[in-house]
Formats: sequence, C-alpha cells, structure tokens
Amino acid sequence: MDTRTVADTSDQAMDVAIISTGGTFGMQTSARGLTPSPVADRIDALLRSSPIPGLRYTISELTPQIDSANATPAAWQQIVEAIDECYDQFDGFVIVHGTDTMAYSTAAVCYAFAHRDKPIVFTGAQRPLSAPNSDGPANLVGALEHLNVALPGSVDIYFGGSVLSGTRAIKYSTIADRAFLEPARLRGAGVPDAKSRADAPPFIEYADIEIPVIRMYPGISSRLVSAMLDGEVPGAVLQCYGFGNVPAATPGLLDALSRASARGQVIVAVSQCFEGEITLGTSEVSTSLADAGVIDGADMTTEAAVTKLHYLFGTGISSTSVRELAGINLVGELARSR
Ligand code: ASP
Repeated sequence: MDTRTVADTSDQAMDVAIISTGGTFGMQTSARGLTPSPVADRIDALLRSSPIPGLRYTISELTPQIDSANATPAAWQQIVEAIDECYDQFDGFVIVHGTDTMAYSTAAVCYAFAHRDKPIVFTGAQRPLSAPNSDGPANLVGALEHLNVALPGSVDIYFGGSVLSGTRAIKYSTIADRAFLEPARLRGAGVPDAKSRADAPPFIEYADIEIPVIRMYPGISSRLVSAMLDGEVPGAVLQCYGFGNVPAATPGLLDALSRASARGQVIVAVSQCFEGEITLGTSEVSTSLADAGVIDGADMTTEAAVTKLHYLFGTGISSTSVRELAGINLVGELARSR
C-alpha cells in the first residue's frame, strides 16, 4: 500500500484516509478499453487545486488497483484490513471503488465494522478523471464533505449528489450520475439500533467460501438448483419472485431446498422486485418455501444477503446461529428485527 500525506496545520482539521481500490474513477484508456491505473497523485493534485477547509488527508492505493468486476471476498478482506490497519490514526475513511460491485463491498465493510464508530464513505465515478466531463471530482469532494455529517459507525455511498446506506444500495444505472438507488422500504428507517448491532457477531474474516445466488425464472429445474447447492456451499441466496414465490410445482425443486436445509445449509430468500419485501406464508407456494427451511430475507438486497452469509459463516458460529441471525437486522440491512 503506497501512502502519501498532506498536512493541514489547523488543530480542528479532520484526519481522513483516502484509500483507492480501483474502478473507473482512476482508469486510463488503453487499446483494450479502460484499464485500472494508479490514481493517488491525481487525487492529490485534485485536492490541492480545490482545497477542502479543515481536511487533512492521506492517500493510499491498494495494489493492484482493480476493475471491481474482479472483486472477490478476498478483495473485501483486503479493504477491511486496509481500513483496520490505520483505523486509530484517522477520524474517517473515503474508499474509492468501482461501481460494478461497490454495493457488495460497502455491505461487506459494514458487517466487518459493525462494532466500530468511525464513518466510512465509498465513492467512485461513471466517467474517469481523465475524461473532460468526469463525475469523479465532484463525487470525491462530496464523499469527503459527507464525512462531516455521517453517523458514527456508518458505511455510506456518496455518488452523484446522493447518499445511500452501504447495506441498502444497488447499482441502478450504467450511465446516470446517480448510479445507485436504495429499494424502497416499507417499514423502519433502516438505521440499526444499538441492540441489533449487539447481535452482530465479532467479524473474523471474509473466508474463501462460496455463496451461490440462485435466481428463479420460468423453467428453472430442480437439477440446476441441486447442482448449485451441491458440494461445500454453506448457504445460498434465493432470488424469489414477489414476496417469496418460487415455481413450487417444478418436480423436485422444493425437495432440493428441503434437503439442503436439512444438511445445515442456510438459504435466504430475497425478492427480485425493487419495492416490497419477502413475506413467506402470504401464498401457498411461499408457505412451502418456509416449510423447506428457507429463511425469510425481508427487504434485504441480494448484495447485502450474499455478503451477510459470507460474514456470518466467516465468524465461525454454527450454522444454527447463522440461520437465526440471517433474517434479522444487524446493521441496517433489513427492516425486520427480533
Ligand atoms: N467496471 C468498473 C468497476 O466497477 C465500473 C465503474 O467503476 O464504474 O470497477
């Protein structure tokens, strides 16, 4: 990790670590299209040309800088460790990240820092700094300024003038400056209370496990579902229709889910819809899903559910405990609590 610091002599200055992980923000053009590139010097030049009063910053880059399409749980772990290593030295953190998988990384960081109290803000760009109309400078400045008002312990995204919760965001647009949206909440503000954070087991690591995402679609077969649940996977996210419907009439489909639950695998249902939430028991087929041991994921996004299972299984708790915690709010990822 390469680091440089700019000192501000003011006693009141906020000490911020800016950590770039890659993404379009710093990408340069190449014969094969946009490619990740070192960006610390350019961030530094940007902030020197329009200084933010009261900001003292250190810029570092994870190596290599990546297209976030290449992010893995190991990349989440690398971000968590980079923040953790310098946590005591700073008042807040801005993470520059690609948009494609930013919502996974923000959720992953949110679970990992569930019991910490400093604000972390992710940002990036739809168009690279090298483009004349880049949205990167405004996003970076906005993210840094947002740190002044961010809630203690929050992990947010600042993008295109919007602030989104790190466990609620999804990438919505490949072109708009507002690249992210939060699915509408039917209930609750989504800000976890102290009690729910207390339920979050201490983070250990984003381990090398696989959590498949199984999307329901007309014609999906039990053979395919069984194959995805086969082997070592400790759990899965089931993208259901509506409030928790699956093609229950498909021969063997519910049996495949029941067998997986009986083996201790934790399957969490989320909705393919952008508004509303899973409510197992509303229809006959969704009741069958509950009977098959599938956990009601309420209004969790797929991103928050996948990272949550990685986090929970990475803590080393039993699959029974994972099952118990998967469907309740820990850090603002869903509206339902115990
Ligand atoms: N592919 C890029 C990334 O996610 C897209 C972006 O940054 O907007 O790293």
